[in-house]
Amino acid sequence: MNESMQVYLSAWPTVWAMDTARYLVGATLMATILALFWKAGLARRKLQAREATGADKQREVLASLRTAFIFSLLGTIVAVGDHQGWMTIYKGFGQAGPLYLAGSLALMVVAHDAYFYWAHRAMHHRRLFALFHRTHHLSRTPTPWAAYSFAVPEAIVHAAFVPLFVLVVPMHVVALFAFGIIMILRNVMGHAGAEVHSAAFGPGRWLGWNNTTTHHDLHHEAGRYNYGLYFRWWDKLMGTEHPDYCTKFEAIIAPEAKTASPAIAGRVLVRTIAALMLAGGLIVAAEPVRANDGMVGGPVGRWATPGVAAVVELAPCADTSGLCGTIRWLWDAIDEKGRPRLDTQNIDAALRARPLVGLSILSGLTPAAGGGWAGRIYNPEDGQTYRATVRQTATDTLAIEGCVLFICQKQVWRSAAALTAALR
Ligand SMILES: [Zn+2]
Ligand SMILES: [Zn+2]
Repeated sequence: MNESMQVYLSAWPTVWAMDTARYLVGATLMATILALFWKAGLARRKLQAREATGADKQREVLASLRTAFIFSLLGTIVAVGDHQGWMTIYKGFGQAGPLYLAGSLALMVVAHDAYFYWAHRAMHHRRLFALFHRTHHLSRTPTPWAAYSFAVPEAIVHAAFVPLFVLVVPMHVVALFAFGIIMILRNVMGHAGAEVHSAAFGPGRWLGWNNTTTHHDLHHEAGRYNYGLYFRWWDKLMGTEHPDYCTKFEAIIAPEAKTASPAIAGRVLVRTIAALMLAGGLIVAAEPVRANDGMVGGPVGRWATPGVAAVVELAPCADTSGLCGTIRWLWDAIDEKGRPRLDTQNIDAALRARPLVGLSILSGLTPAAGGGWAGRIYNPEDGQTYRATVRQTATDTLAIEGCVLFICQKQVWRSAAALTAALR
């Protein structure tokens, strides 16, 4: 027996155990989270009316275990490649620093997303679908157990990515391990069957470029859209994103946005997911996690005022509790003399030099007894501050009422996401 064969055979059991354990731990973790938080809020976020049967889950587990076996058969090639010197798996920190480690990990995730998108799309070709991809789509209502539920040919296609990538990019053993964790976590989250991402992952929000459970679930339900694994980039670029994705995600998350204070279980869930992602090494990847985000209810996000004169961002106040609104963009941001517009109408002369962009105009909004949010609004047009009530009347509509004594003004603001969707 030659030396390479010996290296392969001695490395394989470990690789196989790790591939299998990664699947079992990832899927069990997600299934446990779903069970623990089902009544506390996840039931409301269930994406399909249909239920996966016990037989579905059994098929998913068996196919996934077979996939883990195939992953290990191809993955072990990396050990041989490293031994013979045509691949590099390095272990120390002397050769390349943490920056390279993080960068190579991020690159690997981005490259895998591209590889997955195009391989997945190809497997949907009518000549390839039956052989490669039909097994995965037997899960019309996916469960976390479907993460690796592939036919043998499809498993080989996916398994080929790691050796192909390492052939080109030297990887630290820790980065390779972190890649496996990120892959399985995003995978089981996509197949959870109920939306497990926080509102921060909503279209137009700061993490909105990531896929969500709704995104991949729509792929299983509709088949023709949403081929991406981690990110929405390729689907958006190639026009293959499901036309109802944004509306469906917002609708599934919406009940929370209307609740004054989100249920404690909801917060625990967000924290659990944030912790999982941290554990998965996302902290060193392209998407650092801020554990605080997405835990405040209410109409957070960007809103356009009538005539798109301004875009105002509603977010938790920096110094006090409640929500605050800041001008982020103005249609007329520059005055006739080419200077940024200032708060010239303010009754307090000392404040007239403040630039309007960046100015906080809604302050101290807290849940009101009669529904909606109550606080104060400053109108830079007349320099007055009004008592304000803000009510989200639809996913994309905010009704603002500002009153001084008995004189009230009403305005309807529209979500910036609705405008971007209309302009697309
Ligand atoms: Zn598919
Ligand atoms: Zn799937």
